Amino acid sequence: MGDTVQQFFAVKAKIAAAEQEADRKAGAVTLVAVSKTFEAADIQPVIEAGQRVFGENRVQEAQGKWPALKQAFADIELHLIGPLQSNKAKEAVALFDVIETVDRDKIAAELAKEIARQGRAPKLYVQVNTGSEPQKAGIEPRDAVAFIAHCRDVHGLAIEGLMCIPPAEENPGPHFALLEKLGREAGVEKLSMGMSGDYETAIAFGATSVRVGSAIFGSR
Ligand SMILES: *Cc1c(COP(=O)(O)O)cnc(C)c1O
Repeated sequence: MGDTVQQFFAVKAKIAAAEQEADRKAGAVTLVAVSKTFEAADIQPVIEAGQRVFGENRVQEAQGKWPALKQAFADIELHLIGPLQSNKAKEAVALFDVIETVDRDKIAAELAKEIARQGRAPKLYVQVNTGSEPQKAGIEPRDAVAFIAHCRDVHGLAIEGLMCIPPAEENPGPHFALLEKLGREAGVEKLSMGMSGDYETAIAFGATSVRVGSAIFGSR
């Protein structure tokens, strides 16, 4: 068994242990294996080991490797976890099954247009900038609940989840707690939070999916 597959199974085991520790149901947390910068040859063994849910942060990079993998493995679920430019909405709607980074009106409008045009509707999450970092994508926490209602009422978009990336230098717990609270206020059930360094913490705070890259595929 290669290193990557071994690391994949180790992460799966840690997720299961963290679910149990947090009194969550077994299987409550979905692993999104983040394969950005890695090639199809690195990804395929993880698919063959049973993983089906993957995350990429660039539309163009994903277009280069995922159409063939999706052809070969029909039940792949691909998540866009990086910022979406409105001129890439068409490609994103065509390729991704979940878009986790809806964070402004212009993107919501473009996605609504493409979903209607293509007749293909990826699930949508809103990214929240829980640390209000100026350089980071995401809607401000105080605007999140209204933005979700705006997506529904103005654009006809159902938002199914929230996503956050806590500031790198901070204790992530309060950020995960904030996302969970906003999810409750907005009536949104999915919470995408936790990466290689903090996914067990995120599971304790109610994550329904964790986005793990380097702990599986190695450093980038
Ligand atoms: C790269 C990335 C991840 C995975 O990060 P690791 O620390 O390698 O697990 C998770 N979420 C987003 C949004 C990313 O861009």
